[in-house]
Amino acid sequence: MGRYTGPRCRLCRREGEKLFLKGERCFTDKCAFERRKYPPGFHGPTAKRKLSIYGLQLREKQKVKRIYGVSEGQFRKYFEIAKKMPGNTGENLLSLLERRLDNVVYHLGFALSRQAARQLVTHGHILVNGKKVNIPSYLVCEGDIITLKEKMKNNLFVRQSFDKKDSRDVPKWLSLNKENFEGKVLRLPKREDVSHSIKESLIVEFYSK
Ligand code: SF4
Repeated sequence: MGRYTGPRCRLCRREGEKLFLKGERCFTDKCAFERRKYPPGFHGPTAKRKLSIYGLQLREKQKVKRIYGVSEGQFRKYFEIAKKMPGNTGENLLSLLERRLDNVVYHLGFALSRQAARQLVTHGHILVNGKKVNIPSYLVCEGDIITLKEKMKNNLFVRQSFDKKDSRDVPKWLSLNKENFEGKVLRLPKREDVSHSIKESLIVEFYSK
């Protein structure tokens, strides 16, 4: 199945928490989850949910997929790579997701949401070590320099996003030179660098059946 393109607020309501998929709107009182804190659908307001263990594992996997905007196939591939890496599989999985170029562009504040960041990448506005990279799933490495193309530095949306960036911190594994719109990967991300509340062990259990 491909990437989800339907209403994004529905996803937050389904997962029962804010996933911050819509940029600025997520921080205003227009946030759909703040207004309707129940699952979407006809039975949503009256639904009484008691999830089985499998249900909990499934929901956690779906939540993380939705936060990073990846398809099931891609997510599964990340899991297989994470399994082969030394260390904790769940933590490796989150580290791989954090290293995606669209996620890095979002963290640097060039876009207000991961989806908008993905668009900047696919439209060829992002350079990695001076070369255009238009693949959102590109995994950054330690020492990589991520920059915005010169002509985009005065783009209205990028400027707006950058001005609002101050409400979000750049994670410790990245650095940002605000003057040049230039980010650097200081080290690979660790578990503690992931700001969302995620129980990655449930995802590992889900795929280990
Ligand atoms: Fe989720 Fe943002 Fe929509 Fe709120 S506004 S429901 S946080 S996507």
